[in-house]
Formats: sequence, C-alpha cells, structure tokens
Amino acid sequence: MDRIAQSLAGQPIIIGAGLAGLMTALHLSPQPVIVLAKSPLASTAASGWAQGGIAAALGPDDSATLHASDTMASGDGLCDARVVERITCSARTAVEELIRYGASFDRSAGGEFKLGLEAAHSRRRIVHARGDATGREILHALTRAVRRTPSITVLEGVQARRLLLKDGRLAGVLALAGRVPMLLPSSRVIIATGGIGGLYRATTNPLGAIGQGLTLAARCGAALIDMEFVQFHPTALDVGLDPMPLVSEAVRGEGAVLIDHTGERFMAGEARGELAPRDVVARAIWRRLTEGYGVFLDARAALGKHFAVRFPTIAAACHAAGVDPAAAPIPVRPAAHYHMGGIAVDDAGRTSVDGLWACGEAAATGLHGANRLASNSLLEAVVCARWVAESVSGTASRRGGKMPPIAVPQADDTGPVRQIMSRYVGVLRDRISLREAIEVLRPIAFSGNSAADAAAVGLMITTAALLREESRGGHFRSDFPHRSCQIRRLTLRFGAGDVVARFVPVPSAAAGVGV
Ligand SMILES: Cc1cc2nc3c(=O)[nH]c(=O)nc-3n(C[C@H](O)[C@H](O)[C@H](O)COP(=O)(O)OP(=O)(O)OC[C@H]3O[C@@H](n4cnc5c(N)ncnc54)[C@H](O)[C@@H]3O)c2cc1C
Repeated sequence: MDRIAQSLAGQPIIIGAGLAGLMTALHLSPQPVIVLAKSPLASTAASGWAQGGIAAALGPDDSATLHASDTMASGDGLCDARVVERITCSARTAVEELIRYGASFDRSAGGEFKLGLEAAHSRRRIVHARGDATGREILHALTRAVRRTPSITVLEGVQARRLLLKDGRLAGVLALAGRVPMLLPSSRVIIATGGIGGLYRATTNPLGAIGQGLTLAARCGAALIDMEFVQFHPTALDVGLDPMPLVSEAVRGEGAVLIDHTGERFMAGEARGELAPRDVVARAIWRRLTEGYGVFLDARAALGKHFAVRFPTIAAACHAAGVDPAAAPIPVRPAAHYHMGGIAVDDAGRTSVDGLWACGEAAATGLHGANRLASNSLLEAVVCARWVAESVSGTASRRGGKMPPIAVPQADDTGPVRQIMSRYVGVLRDRISLREAIEVLRPIAFSGNSAADAAAVGLMITTAALLREESRGGHFRSDFPHRSCQIRRLTLRFGAGDVVARFVPVPSAAAGVGV
C-alpha cells in the first residue's frame, strides 16, 4: 500500500465516496484525483439511501425564486441568501449533470419529470427515480461513471484518520487500510464524509455516519459552524431496527396522515398539517410519544394498494417488519437524520485551513440555515461539488517535504456517545441535560480513548446547543422556547482542552469564511 501511496503523492485527495465525493472527482477529471472510501463504493453512503429525491424548480408553476423562498423560510433566519439563490438557480443544471452521468429519473408518458411534493415546499418539485430509490439510482450511475474514468483512483476500504499540517497548511492524510497505516502526501484535500446521525441511537443514517470528517477538520484547526442544528426526521419506521428505515416525507406528500393509537389525527390543527416543517412535526410526535401514546402514519386511505407501486423501498421495509402499509398504520418515531451544521466553508467550498475544502453534508455552506428544506441536500452536494472542483483545480499543488511522525488512531467507536446524544441532545433540549452531556463528553473527547473522535463531534454539537439560548429551526430549547431577536450563527474551534465558540452575524453579500 505504501508504494501505491508514494506513486499517487501530490494528487488531490477526496475523503468520502458519496454523492459529494464522487461528483467532485468526476468534475475534476481528467485531472488525477484519489478518492478514499472507507467501505466499497455505493455500499454505505447515505446518498444511496435517499428516497424522496432532489429538489429542483422544474414545473410550469414553479421558479428558482419560489424554491429559494421556501428554503429561506425553512432555514428560520439563518440561511445565507446569496448561497440559497446560487444553489436553487443551479438546480436544473444539477439534474441535467446527473442525467449526463447516467442517472435516469421518473417521467410521465409525455416525457416530463414526475415531480413529488414534500413538507414545506410550496410546489411539486422533487425529482425522483424508481419511486423512492432516487439515491440508489444516482449513486449506481456515478459509481459506473467513476469506474470508467481513468484519472480517478479509488482506494476502497481506506479510512482517513488524521490530516497532517506543515507550516499551517495541509500536507497530507494519514489513513488506515484495514489496520495498516498509510501516509498520503497532498497539499489539497477535500472532506466529503457525510453526516453525524450514527452518533444517535435512533437514526436513519448509515451507522458509519459519525462525523469523522468533522473531527479531521476540527483537530487540524478548521472552524465549524451551525453544529447545534440536527434535523430529526419525524417518521422513521419504529420496529426496533438500527439504523431505522426511513418513511419518506413524500408519503405524507401523497396524503398519508399521522394518528396516535387512539386514532386521533393530532396534526390536523397545525398550519400545513402533516406537511408542516420537519421540526414542528418531529416535536409534535415526540411529545405524543413521551405522553405514552403510540404514533402511526396512516396511508390506507391516501395510497392503499398503490403504496407499493409509488414507494417500493418503504413498502419492502414495512413488509419485512410485518407491517402492510396498504392495510395497517405504520409505527413511526423521530430519528436523527441530517446535520445542517458542519465545516464552515466559503462559496468555493474552502475551509479556514489552507488546502482543505469540504462539500456535501459535512460542509455548512449556509444553504440550510437552522433547518434543511427536504431534498435540498442532494442538490447541494451536486452543485457544491462543482464549486469545489473548480477551486481545487485552480490551486497549484505544493511539494510537501518530510512530515513529522504522528500516531494513527486505530478503532473509531461511538462508545457511550450514542446513548448520551440521544438522551440529552435530542429533539427537546435544556440547560441541565446539555450540561450533563458536556460533563461526560469533554473528558472522552480530549482523551486517547477509541471514542474520542465521536465524543469530540458530540461535544461540539452539545456546546453549541448549550450556548444557543433560543429555539430556532431544528434546535429546540424547552427552557428558551422562543426565537431570540439576535440572528447569529455560531462558529466553533476545537482548542487544546476545550471548544472555543464565537457568535457571528449571518453572512451578507460580501462575506467569506469569516471565522
Ligand atoms: C435514509 C435517508 C434518506 C434521505 N433522503 C434524502 C432525499 O430524498 N433527498 C435529499 O436531498 N437528501 C436525502 N437524504 C440526505 C442525503 O442523502 C445526504 O445528505 C447526502 O446524500 C450526503 O451526501 P454526502 O456525499 O455528503 O455523504 P454520504 O453520501 O454519506 O457519503 C459519505 C461517504 O464518506 C465515507 N466516509 C466517511 N468517513 C470516512 C473516512 N474517515 N474515510 C474515508 N471515507 C469516509 C462514507 O463511507 C461514505 O462513502 C437522506 C438521508 C438518509 C439517511
């Protein structure tokens, strides 16, 4: 492996092989690039699990302006308007790019895209594939495209464990191929490692989504932002599986309703009912559950026998658990689903560390603000991959020279972190429980323990959640249930022995990574 590493020295390195990583690699071609994938391609990336689809204003009644305005409303004051405009305006091109790489989306007999509806979208604008298998279709198409591209070297089964700096600039990646350490010298590294849902016991994410990219960046001095904003999907299939299969919002978009075990439709009084923003629905379900009710999604009247045709993946997951969604309500509960926060990046995907970029769910571009609008994340991954690729190709590679020896941390466990995050940093938070979580997480995060990296991400989320004394978007404090009049984002750095936090204004047109 070491000889392979030496022969690839100096090429840009992409860490992660989901939608963001693979699109960045394809955009960089024919420039040589290395992709590190900790598991075989198309196997455990969240991208492959996406059901609803990709948001794009393609309908005759729709426009990028409407899409942008729905995105801003969901983001609850913290979106970067300039980023929102740029990404929503690029949605058509993003879909066309995916088609060019071989993805095929569901269309009507007349050839128009069949557009789905999801919560908080004012129009039908979700482009999907094979009903609810959008992510699988896209990831398989991109995997085939990557395998056909000779300039892309994919190192499967190789996990990045630390980033190396020389004179404050990126100098390489320390990785593990199985248990064998591997040093990859490079002055250009892109983090595309996905989300953090695996840090929670109830999650819809692959269990390997534990924010490794966030620790890589934080431990080499990069700023993180919006860490407190975790989106809990209201309707994960509650049948004791880990991770929990998702029951997409698109099912509610087709008219399915939420009921408790008494049959009461408890969202009926809310504006937009079951299609209220995700955080509103998740909290309503959470409260019912903590009051001792069972909660179900009832698709019998809206979809009935048609369920398995429109949502084959979800129907199969339900059937495997002994639930027939055409004939019975589906048991559901909220689960950690998406992280709005991540590595702070500017509009070229550059982080605050020279030579380090980030894209996809690991990055915080400012698109999502305090709450992601459904199906905007695939869109963001595709669009930002191009920005990153353009910026990386415009940055010359630097010769590294000899690097100081550094030990490679081996196992990366979640240890007690899942339990703590679920218990104290979930759908509803308060000062007492957040402080308790910090007491436990801090010593682990700064130890050499195998759970140190997971605890470091947990600590940053918890610290930010404690400092944000208001409720906004996905972050709800039962001791501060209202929005503050101060509209600020919160940046964090992982210091020696503690997390250093700073509130910053929401970026204006002139801002970059202001951290
Ligand atoms: C069940 C589910 C349904 C969803 N549905 C939708 C939807 O309909 N529409 C939508 O827009 N979004 C949806 N999302 C969110 C969306 O799928 C993700 O936000 C998006 O796919 C993230 O892409 P990514 O490339 O950033 O990360 P991922 O696709 O998760 O890829 C990350 C990759 O990095 C690798 N990796 C991680 N750490 C390391 C390391 N240290 N070294 C090497 N490799 C590493 C992982 O193995 C993986 O290959 C859904 C998410 C889930 C879980």
